[in-house]
Amino acid sequence: MHILLTGGTGFIGQALVPHLQAMGHTLTIFSRQRHSESSAVKFIQHLDDLTQAEPIDTVINLAGESLAGARWTKRYKQKLRASRIDLTQNLVHTLQRSDHRPKHFISGSAIGWYGDCGEQKVDESHPAGSGFGAELCKDWETAALAAQDALGSTVTVLRIGVVLDKNGGAFPQLFTPFRFGLANWPGSGDQYLSWIHRSDLVAAIAFLLKHPLEGAVNLTAPEPTTYKMLAQEISKLRKTWVTMPAPAFAMRLALGEMADELLLNGQRVLPTKLAANGFAFHYPTIDKTLQAILTQ
Ligand code: NDP
Repeated sequence: MHILLTGGTGFIGQALVPHLQAMGHTLTIFSRQRHSESSAVKFIQHLDDLTQAEPIDTVINLAGESLAGARWTKRYKQKLRASRIDLTQNLVHTLQRSDHRPKHFISGSAIGWYGDCGEQKVDESHPAGSGFGAELCKDWETAALAAQDALGSTVTVLRIGVVLDKNGGAFPQLFTPFRFGLANWPGSGDQYLSWIHRSDLVAAIAFLLKHPLEGAVNLTAPEPTTYKMLAQEISKLRKTWVTMPAPAFAMRLALGEMADELLLNGQRVLPTKLAANGFAFHYPTIDKTLQAILTQ
């Protein structure tokens, strides 16, 4: 199958691309940068180039400026929105002009959709929460769902949890204090972190290509952890000498609104749809995931 991938050069894309190639798919990747091409991967820098590209069977739309890339000023928030919502809208409009419409339109979103849920377990049926992150996800999902009417595609939106792996993503930053023997967590540490190992995320996207589920699908491991539990598990694998939580007020001072939305708020998200459709996680628990990240 020929897949159009946006965000194919990022942390998730770098693991997804070789997996899709190994499955025998051909890829067109939309990227703002110039890249050298191979026989199985073509790059485009402008969406208009899609009209000349080989017909697209499936779209995987993951592009978006990093949420942790800068302080959330009005200007940066606009960048976060434009790189997801405007891009998705442009993508749908561009594909509408082509004769061949993708059957399946898979698009990114995040567990930020749920806002702050405290200890409550939430699945795909839970309504959107409040705050900038929830609004961003809501509008991103709406832009993607428009592909249903505009293109006649089955639309799957991926509510992705915090993606963990040895290199890249959130883990190296979460792990930094532990390198110096400091067990650390943001705020009370009782807030839930819904996470997924990057290789399970890639496997779940590949599973969804074969089982095109409609609507939102949570891409999170079945056992979310609290930050405190995460610190305890890391401390079993790396000797820590001192426990030093980062107080909420200091985090707010340093990071502004982003501190609450990305670190101090919690979401205890369950992958109900993936589980109901028979997806098996290779890394269902945080201890197994940390073993893989820290010892292999
Ligand atoms: P990265 O920050 O590693 O990569 C971002 C990707 O988006 C790059 O491929 C980049 O392409 C592309 N991109 C960024 N800004 C733009 C823009 N203005 N126009 C076009 N393309 C753009 O992200 P991840 O791989 O970690 O995440 C991919 C998506 O998944 C993101 O949308 C993110 O919000 C979402 N997600 C990620 C989570 C995580 O823990 N990693 C958790 C939940 C959701 P290039 O530079 O080549 O143009």
